[in-house]
Amino acid sequence: MTEHMPTIGFIGLGIMGRPMARNLLAAGYPLTVLDVVAQAVDQLVAEGATAGISPRQVARDSDVLITMLPDSPEVRAVYLGADGAFEALRDGWLAIDMSSIAPGTARELAERAAAAGAETLDAPVSGGDKGAIAGTLSIMVGGSEAAFARARPILEVLGKTIVHVGPAGAGQVVKVCNQVVVGVVIEAVSEALLLGAKAGVDPARIADVLQGGLASTKVLELRRQNFLSGTFDPGFRIRLHLKDLKNALELARETGVAMPAAAAVEQLMRAADANGRGDLDHSGLLTILEDLAGFRVADAASRSPHPAQ
Ligand code: NAD
Repeated sequence: MTEHMPTIGFIGLGIMGRPMARNLLAAGYPLTVLDVVAQAVDQLVAEGATAGISPRQVARDSDVLITMLPDSPEVRAVYLGADGAFEALRDGWLAIDMSSIAPGTARELAERAAAAGAETLDAPVSGGDKGAIAGTLSIMVGGSEAAFARARPILEVLGKTIVHVGPAGAGQVVKVCNQVVVGVVIEAVSEALLLGAKAGVDPARIADVLQGGLASTKVLELRRQNFLSGTFDPGFRIRLHLKDLKNALELARETGVAMPAAAAVEQLMRAADANGRGDLDHSGLLTILEDLAGFRVADAASRSPHPAQ
């Protein structure tokens, strides 16, 4: 069976990339992996992957390259830099960038690849580290129909909801839309819990009631414990969300769309990052609002007669 499967190169073995690579190995794909952190590579090699040497070599030795990197500069370095993947560009080769980056960079990669007869897809994801581990990510894909059809069996190993949303760059456009909603909702939930708690109501009870009506949100369902206990282990880092909002606001400028709420949240996340909190989970945005209010939600929750389940 393995001989009919394309060989895959995987670059970027962080919180998301490591479990995604693992799932591809478990599905039987021959896999070559690369990261700037040697330990991340060693782990996957112990599980059956081959260690890559450079993006160029990984690209040359695989039919399909997948990248899961932090942001546009790292993606540019891996594809376009010295010894980069595009030095091995060739007819029929396919690259799937699953990082969340600027839509303009995704379009530029697609144009350069097309000039050599190769194809790229931008295929950013949502669903977090839990979705990456379980293979249940939502994947939004930009690129040609033909490349999407070719990538689909591979993407089905990594995700559950896989949607072709349009041409090159469209996947990244949808991803920034997603991040605007998540960021603004985190900020709104933080304001509400803080207001209610400082006004003397148990924040756990506020959370219970919000979840029973129109205000209910996945953010509070999945991050309830973070908000109430004041612990913010990532998860999804504030620094990465700040990057997504930067990409959203850049697109808004290019497109001519005013986004006052997203801009305010971007400023608050910037404050969090500037105060050494960039590696907190994005729900840790609450701590900046708490600083402004001079009040901690977790202090109120710990005085509550009802345990914060
Ligand atoms: P991460 O920082 O944990 O992982 C990134 C990995 O890329 C690291 O292992 C790093 O060493 C490696 N890397 C950086 N530069 C490199 C280079 N030049 N060559 C090789 N490797 C390099 O980040 P993550 O949380 O895994 O996120 C990856 C992408 O997925 C980001 O764009 C993020 O916005 C997006 N994303 C993350 C989540 C989440 O919950 N963590 C959810 C959805 C989308």
